[in-house]
Amino acid sequence: MKIERMAPLWPDNKRGCMALAFDLDGPTGDAMLTDSIWGNPEYYTFGSYGPFRALGRLLDLLDDFKLPATFFVPAYVVEHWPKQCAEIVERGHEVGYHGYKHESFYVLEREEQLRVMEKSKQILWNFLGTEAQGFRTPSGDWHKDTLSVLAEFGVTYSSSMRGDDRPYLVHLNENSRPLVELPGKWELDDYASIAYTRAPNFPAGQDRTASYKLTLENWSYEFDGAMDEGLFLTTLFHPKITGKPGRILLLEKLLEHMCARDDVWFARGKEVADWVLKVKGYGDGQ
Ligand SMILES: [Zn+2]
Repeated sequence: MKIERMAPLWPDNKRGCMALAFDLDGPTGDAMLTDSIWGNPEYYTFGSYGPFRALGRLLDLLDDFKLPATFFVPAYVVEHWPKQCAEIVERGHEVGYHGYKHESFYVLEREEQLRVMEKSKQILWNFLGTEAQGFRTPSGDWHKDTLSVLAEFGVTYSSSMRGDDRPYLVHLNENSRPLVELPGKWELDDYASIAYTRAPNFPAGQDRTASYKLTLENWSYEFDGAMDEGLFLTTLFHPKITGKPGRILLLEKLLEHMCARDDVWFARGKEVADWVLKVKGYGDGQ
């Protein structure tokens, strides 16, 4: 495996690149251990609120600002909220892989990872008619075989790692097209500031969340800093956290702040990946 860095150069002479992204985890994740609401009823409903209620509110907000976004969606969520998830695609946004039930790839053997990807691929195709190009690792980490698993499924890019604020290429071997990594950052994960759940407790010990005003200020600094330096930035926002009536006002203010600049390329992950591949001489990204 070889890593290749690049100087960020964006289309239309834009200075920086912002790829809004949401992880529509629904009730999946480390805390949902059964198939049924009765495994962990309160958490299940807390998570379900994401696709069931918050998603529509978010899509309306994105419409208002005419901003494109990427939604990384566990296939379980697509199966259980198909109408809501179809809206993502109908309104022009991108859907990317995020496991079947938010499995941590780090602890899965290669064969198990392949099974999760195959099942997810079928479900995204059957319910949404789309073939996902992007992948965000659920629960944050890769297994040593994940790169080759993604290559088998023709995945163009991942948005899973943290070590840069520019896209970079990950070469599996000399014969295959490299994977584009679009790194994210904890500072733009809404869990870090304003998540609040019980069973499992988050934050641990049930400390308070940050104030929404302070959070808006922090996120705005992150955006301005990245754009000023001509970098790439993505979000790790979760509809069940940020798509609530009070928090959507925070997001509205953030988008207002972002749209006040005219030197930013707002793009879906797949467009950024295609652009990077083109710049690096891998054809039109196909
Ligand atoms: Zn997730």
